[in-house]
Amino acid sequence: MNKLSNSLAAADIAHSVHPYTNMRLHEEQGPMIITRGDGVHVYDDQGKEYIEGLSGLWSVAVGFSDTRLKDAAMRQMEALPYYHSFAHKAHEPSIRLAEKLAEMTPEGLNRIFFTNSGSEANDTVVKMVWFMNNALGRPEKKKFLARNKGYHGITVASGSLTGLPANHGDFDLPAIPVRHLTCPHHWRWGHEGESEAEFTARLLKEAEDVILEEGPETIAAFIGEPVMGAGGVMVPPEGYWPGIAALCRKYDILLVSDEVINGFGRLGTPFGCQKYGFVPDIMVMSKQLTSSYMPLAAIALNDRVYDAIADNSAKLGTFGHGFTGSGHPVACAVGLENLRIIEEDDLMGNAARLEERFQSGLRRFADHPLVGEVRGVGLIAGLELVADKATRQSFQPAGKIAATVAKMAAEEGLICRNVYETVALCPPLIVTEAQVDQIIDRLGRALDRGWAWVQ
Ligand code: PLP
Repeated sequence: MNKLSNSLAAADIAHSVHPYTNMRLHEEQGPMIITRGDGVHVYDDQGKEYIEGLSGLWSVAVGFSDTRLKDAAMRQMEALPYYHSFAHKAHEPSIRLAEKLAEMTPEGLNRIFFTNSGSEANDTVVKMVWFMNNALGRPEKKKFLARNKGYHGITVASGSLTGLPANHGDFDLPAIPVRHLTCPHHWRWGHEGESEAEFTARLLKEAEDVILEEGPETIAAFIGEPVMGAGGVMVPPEGYWPGIAALCRKYDILLVSDEVINGFGRLGTPFGCQKYGFVPDIMVMSKQLTSSYMPLAAIALNDRVYDAIADNSAKLGTFGHGFTGSGHPVACAVGLENLRIIEEDDLMGNAARLEERFQSGLRRFADHPLVGEVRGVGLIAGLELVADKATRQSFQPAGKIAATVAKMAAEEGLICRNVYETVALCPPLIVTEAQVDQIIDRLGRALDRGWAWVQ
């Protein structure tokens, strides 16, 4: 370690409180300090190069050195570094980005509200849905349906919608009325001998049973990620989403598509709902919206939701909700330029073209003794590690082996993410064929070392 990194690491240990980190372990082992980026690569303070196989946090579509985004931010900083959108104020970047998102998102989603993060966006969705149903004279219609292993953020309401134990335990969540349904992942949650079609039918029956048990008049919305990301990359079974959409229509339940990871080409289609054949009433976007160069999230509403909220704001005199940073001009300018790059460089097409190479390359590891399942779609994938391939039993202690393989992958020059028992990959959309091959080679070496380690 050089002097700078030593002092930086010591300062980090002394003063930083890290998100999603075992803090005491961090005090012992210190940080991995990343100093710069170049395309799909990032470099640590020792100069070591890594392929960022998770695009940071599933988010950097255009890579880590796009000068067009830097220039767009600079131009906006010079013209108008900050303004807000409260009380009829407006500025061009947020107007243009809202217009662009209304054009890009599926038919019917015409109105856009901005927040700083995906968690704030999902909290806002909860409040909008409640506000709407109070306005429509149905104050009992407030409950949410979500899924185990779903991830919607960590604030009080969004964290309640998330279906992961680490986000609930000791945080006193869920704190809003929500029912978590079975995770739509056949390999792990299917019963012995149950076909994928039977599994789908069981999950749809479960959803309908819960709706009837709670009373449809009490269920406001169903929220889900088309492909689940942070819970371990779970691809839904055939027919699941059309079935859920039909139930939502039948019982007048709003359908919310959380596209924070799926959106903007990750699955090879602009949005995940298009891949799985449903049209949501509300869509939540973030991450690849700005390639995370600036914090920004967006909520798209259909006219029915918007009109109910707008009418109520007229009745009450305001919509009493908004963030200082809602539609921040620099974030919106960066978002607009980022979407232009995605379109001009056909990055969604790149994801679609490289899907086969990436997914079939990874599926070679299905026979690896550590790997239970390889799953994914487009440019997102997960490898679930098991102690016993036949029984699919996980290693104990939970998560340790995936963390170890991720650490070994970093030593091999590949950053990936361990989520519970799964090693997740989600490379930048600019990735090339040769880089896809390097990702697969490096992961393969990490898996072999992981296997040697458990022996
Ligand atoms: N929704 C989904 C699907 C996500 O993956 C995430 C973050 O990973 C969020 C919401 C929360 O976003 P943020 O971390 O910006 O609050």
